[in-house]
Amino acid sequence: MQYRKDRYGQDLSMLGYGCMRFSKNGGSIDIDKTEKEIMAAVEAGVNYFDTAYIYPGSEAALGEIVERNHIRDRIRIATKLPQYLIGNTAGLDKYFNEELSRLRTDHVDYYLMHHLTDIAMWEKLKAVGVIDWIKNKKESGSIRNIGFSYHGNTDNFLKILNDYDWDFCQIQYNYLDEVSQAGVEGLKAAYSKGIPVVIMEPLRGGKLVNMLPEGALAAFRRSGRDWSPAEWAFRWLYNQKEVTVVLSGMNSMEMVEENCRIASETQAGSFTADDFATLQEVIGQIRKFEKVGCTGCRYCMPCPKGVDIPGTFRCYNTMFTESKSAGRSQFIQTVGLTKEPAFASQCIRCGKCEQHCPQGIPIREKLQEADRALRPLPYKLAIQAGRAFMYRKAKTKA
Ligand code: SF4
Ligand code: SF4
Repeated sequence: MQYRKDRYGQDLSMLGYGCMRFSKNGGSIDIDKTEKEIMAAVEAGVNYFDTAYIYPGSEAALGEIVERNHIRDRIRIATKLPQYLIGNTAGLDKYFNEELSRLRTDHVDYYLMHHLTDIAMWEKLKAVGVIDWIKNKKESGSIRNIGFSYHGNTDNFLKILNDYDWDFCQIQYNYLDEVSQAGVEGLKAAYSKGIPVVIMEPLRGGKLVNMLPEGALAAFRRSGRDWSPAEWAFRWLYNQKEVTVVLSGMNSMEMVEENCRIASETQAGSFTADDFATLQEVIGQIRKFEKVGCTGCRYCMPCPKGVDIPGTFRCYNTMFTESKSAGRSQFIQTVGLTKEPAFASQCIRCGKCEQHCPQGIPIREKLQEADRALRPLPYKLAIQAGRAFMYRKAKTKA
């Protein structure tokens, strides 16, 4: 295993164990099989384990396995505050204490504000006193590093990143998402501030393995590399020195062994020009199925009416490269729930954006088409309800 440093010089294994997809037996976690897989990873040098309050059964299973095998001092546990459930100050302790008890520990090594998509969510947490709360927890040693996991757009990522003295952050990042969500711009901004970045969704929920078109698979075969599609995706990430840990939700011994091998072999800066060319071809093959040729360059932004033009097109395209539901759920996460609405329906057809688009996209027309596909009536209503819940007024007392 190779290691990269956290903010305070501690070694973190380049491969992190994602605990959301533990092995299952029927509907529940197969604790014995999971234990074998976790222990194989620990023996291979994995020391970063990522779970969350809302992953069903995950914190409790991890706590049980860690206690049974006496490995608490060999691993670092990352878990997350379900910030969307916090309505008052007392909620902070309530969820945190429950997590400690599930994990059978007295401290969390890496604690994240879960699933921020907008600076307004962070502002709401500040309104219930999260800054003092974090300070107390860090002073008492029950939280060692504080961070956030993120799914919104680049602008909001940078605002959150620059608003607080974070110890680390976690972003969705893979070769297809280089310019979406926090993107490479967010990754480099965090790195330049000395903030380690943990990567989630390195395979885009398995899509970069299971849903590649034949043209993409053929490009991999022609490359002369004996790498699986998953290995290409992991190596692309490890190749970037700005990446600290890459999470993988492992649930088979083969996966653990293959992922540990890749993380022990790949050096930053080892990709060749031919490797990059192969991946460009693969991306091109995936993008053939897209409806709008938007590259995410953002030259059209900002829109005077607040429309998230590249965000809308990215989710619309996902409806055709992955599935309708994947595109719509990505839209809800990254565009639908921002505090300032960013819907295409706000467009007043001024045409300013089209003057700047190097791809010559008829943005006004395509936005309307995308909006109709992304927000059919049930989704509109669900987004409305979600926004009302997210931005309900926070109370400072229990
Ligand atoms: S045409 Fe619409 S999307 Fe483009 S800049 Fe004007 S308001 Fe924004
Ligand atoms: S300028 Fe064109 S290609 Fe670039 S993000 Fe905007 S719509 Fe997409």
